[in-house]
This record gives sequence, C-alpha cells and structure tokens, in this order.
Amino acid sequence: MESEKPTETTGLLQTHELYKYILETNVYPREPEPLKELRALTASHPWAVMGTAPDAGQMIGLLLKIVGAKKTIEVGVFTGYSLLLTALTIPDDGKIVAIDPDRKAYEIGLPVIKKAKVEHKIDFIESKALPVLDKMLENPDNEGSFDFAFVDADKINYINYHERIVKLLKVNGIMVYDNTLWFGTVAKPESSVPDYFKEGRVSAIQLNKSLAADPRIDISTVPLGDGLTICRRLY
Ligand code: SAH
Ligand code: CA
Repeated sequence: MESEKPTETTGLLQTHELYKYILETNVYPREPEPLKELRALTASHPWAVMGTAPDAGQMIGLLLKIVGAKKTIEVGVFTGYSLLLTALTIPDDGKIVAIDPDRKAYEIGLPVIKKAKVEHKIDFIESKALPVLDKMLENPDNEGSFDFAFVDADKINYINYHERIVKLLKVNGIMVYDNTLWFGTVAKPESSVPDYFKEGRVSAIQLNKSLAADPRIDISTVPLGDGLTICRRLY
C-alpha cells in the first residue's frame, strides 16, 4: 500500500511535476530564510511529513496579512513551521498562544525562532489544547479577542476546538483547519483506505460536514498541502 501513502512531494495534486512547479515558481522564491532553515532542520525528523507544507504556509501568511492579524492561536506546533511563519508575519507587538503537549519537537525549531528574533511574540503552552482553550474562555476578556487561529493537531478534536475558537475569535476573524482532505481519503470508500488513514478520515469527514452546516461561519476548502479549510466568523 506504500504507493497509496501520499507524501509532501505530491500533496493532493495529480503529479509530482505540477506540485514541484508550484513550489519552485511561487513558493520557494518567496519563502523567508528562517522558514527554509526550519524546514531543513525538520527534514530528518521521523514525522517530518507533519510539518505544514510550504504552499499551505504561503496561504496562511497571506490570510494573516489580509486580516492584519495581531493576536493568534496555534493548536499543534510540532517543530514550529506554521508558528514561525505566523511570528514572522504579525507585527512586533503581536502575540501567539501556541499549544502543544510536545515541547521536545518545539525545541527543535526554537533556535531558529530565537535567531529570527520573534520569540517574544510566542507564548508556548505545553499541554493538550482543549483544557487550555477552556481556561482561556473562563476569562471574558479573551472572548472575541483573537484575529486568527490555525488548527493542526489531533484530528478527532477539531470539532471541539472549533466550538471554542469560534468564541475566542473576533467577528471577521479567520480560522484555518489543516489536513481536512486527509490525503484525499475523505472522498474514497472506507474499504479502499489503508487502516493507517481510517480514523483520521472519519474525523475529517465529520468535521467537513459540521463546518459546512455551521451558520456562524463562511468557509472555503482549498486543496493546498493536505487540504486547508478556511473559515471566517460571521457573527
Ligand atoms: N503546525 C505544525 C504541525 C503540527 S503536527 C507545523 O507547521 O509543523 C501536529 C501536532 O499536534 C504535533 O506536534 C502533536 O504533538 C500535536 N498534538 C497532538 N495532540 C494534541 C492536542 N491534544 N493538543 C494540542 N496539540 C496536539
Ligand atoms: Ca498538518
């Protein structure tokens, strides 16, 4: 089944050549140096494929700039590609609440974050995300105060994160969910999907349905990386 297992070099696109074309034409020439460095540092990690794809990262950067994001939430940090991207994009007095129970992975990227002089924007919380988001909501000042959230963690909890993040975001705030097409398996019958993908496939299908039915948000799913679903809080 190895051939079924997609890699970062094809993304969701039909051919490796097309993906390479996009990366080489539009993405790599614009990718900031620290992000290239972080990507290189992560490449030898056994779970390197979890790092945000640079083409998806470019979209996240664009969205952060469009909304003029200053206060953001990052659920699922790993070695910090999307975190560093966010830290490089928001203004100097911007703040990111970054949550991940795996501090070791975060520490792989931390020297690059420090070198880029953006560590002061990051509040890293070593924890599972759900209790942290709940705690944040206990303080009414946090409600409706964030401009942006990127969710890239345990897929089974995305629906739970969404309920919290909708409240934490400002009206017009943007949340982005990663891996919502789950290697394309969302559109395949369960029987044709390798066991390894089954659980995530079910989570993604449930999330996609529930986001599409949620009147509180606008949505658009784009096939960048492993599928990004971009949402805007409407009210
Ligand atoms: N955005 C990262 C990739 C994240 S990979 C990047 O750009 O590189 C998924 C991460 O989710 C892992 O680091 C994992 O430790 C984290 N994770 C798993 N369960 C979690 C949970 N319950 N809460 C927060 N993070 C979690
Ligand atoms: Ca991801």
